[in-house]
Amino acid sequence: MTRTVTLLQGEGIGPEVMAVALRVVEAVTTKIKFETYPIGVSAWEETGSPLPEDTLRSVLRNRVALKGPVATPRSRDAYRSVNILMRQPLGLFAQLRPVRSWPGLTTPAGIDLVVAREITEDYLAGIEFAATTPAARAMTELIEKEAGHQMDPTAAISVKTISEHATRRFFTLLFEWARKSGRRRITVAHKATVQRATDGLFLEVARDVAAIVSHSSAEIELDDCLVDTLAANLARQPARYDVIAASALYGDILSDLAGAITGGLGLGPGVNFGDDVAVFETAHGTAPRLAGLDRANPTATVLCAAMMLEHLGEATAASSIRRAVGEVLATSSRLTYDLESLRPCAIVGTAEFGDLLVEQLLSGDELRRDIRQAGDEE
Ligand code: ATP
Repeated sequence: MTRTVTLLQGEGIGPEVMAVALRVVEAVTTKIKFETYPIGVSAWEETGSPLPEDTLRSVLRNRVALKGPVATPRSRDAYRSVNILMRQPLGLFAQLRPVRSWPGLTTPAGIDLVVAREITEDYLAGIEFAATTPAARAMTELIEKEAGHQMDPTAAISVKTISEHATRRFFTLLFEWARKSGRRRITVAHKATVQRATDGLFLEVARDVAAIVSHSSAEIELDDCLVDTLAANLARQPARYDVIAASALYGDILSDLAGAITGGLGLGPGVNFGDDVAVFETAHGTAPRLAGLDRANPTATVLCAAMMLEHLGEATAASSIRRAVGEVLATSSRLTYDLESLRPCAIVGTAEFGDLLVEQLLSGDELRRDIRQAGDEE
């Protein structure tokens, strides 16, 4: 059956890396049809919204989108971040970023982890009071009255929210995803020793969901670690982690750290899940300095496409792509500029690196082996 997916090319390096991902998908399957819709500044200029109604409707209809990066221009006051605009109408609440070692690159071996973060609460609730405003003063008075805490009257205030409902929804999805994906352990990153109300609740709900899930015999272990200790462990022994689960800010920092350890932003895919919608997008942004120069590494977007295919039940096509990426990263004498420090190579541009991936796929080894295996299994 053919599945339709909404394609959001994004900005900056988005269209260049997306073009490679589309070629790669085309090389492995005929079962995906893309429907392209605009987002970002160009959509804003055309329709007055960076996330036009038609774009949103397409994602809601197809329930799966492959999305390039979008910037939030600081110079435009009325402009709202597309990523924040998307979250609520699409019901996106969990972001997963897989991070792994690639043989052949001089990064630590044996890493195969996922950083999962809740993306509706914590600092992403976006509740802030600028210093010396009447609202900040009112908050200061309230905090003094309710918490008995004497505050500097000129303090700016940012509110961190963690709720039982959002945390439960996040861990329920995560345990289910972990079970389906053959993951064995979820480590909760927190600072519950200090932030007892918020991080304490996050951890308590995680344990509660784990207890419920264990009744239905899923063998996924839950443990936890202080976020600072976890960051140090991640730097020293990244291979010991399987799934790391965190609230929005810790997760953002930990996923960037994990990505940097394994070769940088050019290699990091990701997905945002709601109950009924999945939007696949890289950990990297628009990289404006690389835009239009045919320099960016398309691997992260290609791996997003592989995750998307897996989500759509095209596991054979997904594993062909991953194997081709692995083969090129391990053996090709030509790589994109960001990988030069990880293996001696000649530097090639985005499109030529895409050629290498497609050649590797069409050379047939991956595809033939996977198709044969799929046939054997049936
Ligand atoms: P944004 O504000 O949109 O997030 P940014 O430039 O602040 O953009 P990123 O886009 O994530 O942040 O990029 C940061 C840097 O990482 C880039 O300047 C570039 O050096 C590197 N980088 C990001 N993506 C890639 C990629 N696909 N290939 C190679 N290098 C990349």
